[in-house]
Amino acid sequence: MVARGPIERLLAGFKSFHAAYYEQRPERIQPLVERGQAPEVLVIACSDSRIDPAILMNSEPGELFVVRNVANLVPPYNPDGSARGVSSAMEMAIRELKVRHVIVLGHSGCGGIRTLVETALGRAPEREFLTPWVRIAAEACAHVVRGDDAAAAAHEVEHRALLLSLRNLRTFPWIVEAERSGELDLRGWWFDLGGGALWEARPGADATFRRIWPAGGD
Ligand SMILES: [Zn+2]
Repeated sequence: MVARGPIERLLAGFKSFHAAYYEQRPERIQPLVERGQAPEVLVIACSDSRIDPAILMNSEPGELFVVRNVANLVPPYNPDGSARGVSSAMEMAIRELKVRHVIVLGHSGCGGIRTLVETALGRAPEREFLTPWVRIAAEACAHVVRGDDAAAAAHEVEHRALLLSLRNLRTFPWIVEAERSGELDLRGWWFDLGGGALWEARPGADATFRRIWPAGGD
């Protein structure tokens, strides 16, 4: 077999996508072209190359409205007129497209959370954009103390940061309103990349994670 570089590999992948949706199943893609998108789910996921929501959930074009960033963080509501990528994607999904569900998708072994922990421990170099970005979740590692093992602490911080993002979702008045009228629900999912399990937390004062796949855990 001839070795291929990453770009050739992607072009071959696009060819497969094209064959699947433009030749074999045009009935799936054509309505999306003619009538536009109407996704029912907004996913806020990490930029991590291993955590592509469309691949993890085997979804098709038109199903998921996705915003990805380092550590899948939701910033708090701050309508100060500056350009805000995550908030604008949330506004597009929730106010314009009227999605019914928001999933914040976190994962084990998150490099962004690891950076946050190491920054809190004074072990990470200051980065121009990465450092202030991950500090959105600074509260999630308030319990981490000098001398802690960063890798061990990161797992707990991943969960806490996800719960913080769920709380931050509720600082947006149009999210609160949509939830109140029963048009929107919020949940956090945490994917254990090593074990392959999926955990869920719903927002609320006593939010905790329970395993939803395989079912039956807590
Ligand atoms: Zn991550």
